[in-house]
Amino acid sequence: MQTRAYAAQSSTSPLAPHTIERREAGDRDVVIDILYCGVCHSDLHAARGEWDGIRYPCVPGHEIVGRVSAVGRGVRRLAPGTIVAVGCMVDSCRSCEACKLGLEQYCDGPHGFTQTYNGWVKGDGENTYGGYSRTIVVDEHFVLTVKHDATQLAAVAPLLCAGITTWSPLRHWGAGPGKTVGIVGIGGLGHMGVKLARALEAHVVAFTTSPAKGKEALKLGADEVVVSTNAADMSQRAGTCDFILDTVSASHDLDTYVKLLKRDGTLTLVGAPATAHPSPAIFNLLLRRRSIAGSAIGGIRETQEMLDFCADRKIVSEIEMIGMAEIEKAYARLLRGDVRYRFVIDMRTLAA
Ligand code: NAP
Ligand code: ZN
Ligand code: ZN
Repeated sequence: MQTRAYAAQSSTSPLAPHTIERREAGDRDVVIDILYCGVCHSDLHAARGEWDGIRYPCVPGHEIVGRVSAVGRGVRRLAPGTIVAVGCMVDSCRSCEACKLGLEQYCDGPHGFTQTYNGWVKGDGENTYGGYSRTIVVDEHFVLTVKHDATQLAAVAPLLCAGITTWSPLRHWGAGPGKTVGIVGIGGLGHMGVKLARALEAHVVAFTTSPAKGKEALKLGADEVVVSTNAADMSQRAGTCDFILDTVSASHDLDTYVKLLKRDGTLTLVGAPATAHPSPAIFNLLLRRRSIAGSAIGGIRETQEMLDFCADRKIVSEIEMIGMAEIEKAYARLLRGDVRYRFVIDMRTLAA
């Protein structure tokens, strides 16, 4: 079936209207009428070809909330009318050890996991197209359910990437009572990291390069805010953090943050800049047995856990709603750090 979308035709062309073909629903497929799609910095990295292997046309979007419009014959869990969500993955091998553990994002199958956009359908070369579109067809295993109030659905969309990408490492590295957790970069991911670390009852320190975000970060749930360009304030925090989550979208010096870790502390990178960070200084790491790690999105089971946790506590993203045609202006503002804190596209502004 054909569906309207917005696509970049090359790394230098602005996103513009485009028509894509979606597969007809198979037995286990769910057809979703997309209501809202969040705008992740990854969408911008991909559309502009900042990462290797981007194929065009590129239809970004992996923070999707919508309503089921049809289901395949084998689908029991979902029915037309149900509000559902789709994140960064739409397929995986389902049988490797990682998949069995619910960690599909680390799938060891022959093709790894299939990204919602710029993914290889069953590894055969066909491109996948994301949520900047009116309709998507997804295997039910990769379709999440949403328990939030109907009035919050737009602000739920960013949980599907910004939420899970911060939740998964916070849980894995044990953010909780008695732990001091630093969140670096208070953008789409970072502001969710602050909210979730606070909800997990950690002591939360927000690190920002934007002094203007200071008071807002406290309102989001940070116990303390440090402007990371202030060297004196940074050196005062040396050796104080159990865990630091770095969400920064640009290459930067990691040593500044490694030094803030306690013995055995971990700095986990989730930001995925186009160019690598400068190599970290070795002595900061070995003298206190500190680690630098990475983390990718999160599995389907933990995404549902995070959505349910957030629904129980009424946690959503701070958003600014835009129409589909405003996407290029939104990207320009994202690059300037001028977003509080996630753009969400009202997909009904894209003609069916
Ligand atoms: P975003 O909303 O643009 O936030 C990034 C934040 O980084 C900015 O708000 C800013 O925070 C800080 N920052 C930006 N440029 C900086 C610079 N030159 N120096 C220092 N700080 C800077 O982006 P996002 O959507 O949260 O995504 C963040 C990164 O995570 C992107 O690279 C994205 O591709 C990646 N990502 C990774 C995964 C994964 O699975 N690992 C998933 C989703 C996204 P302050 O103003 O507070 O300093
Ligand atoms: Zn994302
Ligand atoms: Zn697998």
